Amino acid sequence: MQNYKLIKSFRKTLALQVKNGEIIVKSPFFVTKKTIHNFLEKHQNWIVKKLQNTRKSIIDSDKIEFYKEKARKYIPWRVAELAEKNWLTYNVIKITSARTRWGSCTSKKNLNFSFRLILAPKEVIDYVIIHELSHLIHMNHSRRFWTQVAEMMPDYKVHEKWLKENGDFFVY
Ligand SMILES: [Zn+2]
Repeated sequence: MQNYKLIKSFRKTLALQVKNGEIIVKSPFFVTKKTIHNFLEKHQNWIVKKLQNTRKSIIDSDKIEFYKEKARKYIPWRVAELAEKNWLTYNVIKITSARTRWGSCTSKKNLNFSFRLILAPKEVIDYVIIHELSHLIHMNHSRRFWTQVAEMMPDYKVHEKWLKENGDFFVY
């Protein structure tokens, strides 16, 4: 059993958090140690995965400026290329530090991309760009939107899955 920080409060259920490499258990006042340990055991895989992510993230944190620079150079260039290939026009591209959103598209046709994306494989970056470019046509996630994505990138599902499974590694 790893060390953990216990925070008791007027809550009804147990909750688990891994923050900066620390395991935090939030619990109601009257819960036995055994219940907490069972709870931790049950979520062992999740905890280990989270801790691994944290470790990897810490290694990369001193390289943030380097990644930002790289993203500012690569992403707008690639967006322009993919947009031109698909006859799409957009307004302004911004490289953000967003943690939970890889990209977004505004109603004014501005595109935002998180610099963290630069750590992903090229095809995954392409997928996010194509996803946002498709929002220039469909501002939703309707079936027609996904058809549009698939038209530009037939194997997009592989990359979408990759991002879901590995995305946590890029959050500092
Ligand atoms: Zn979307």
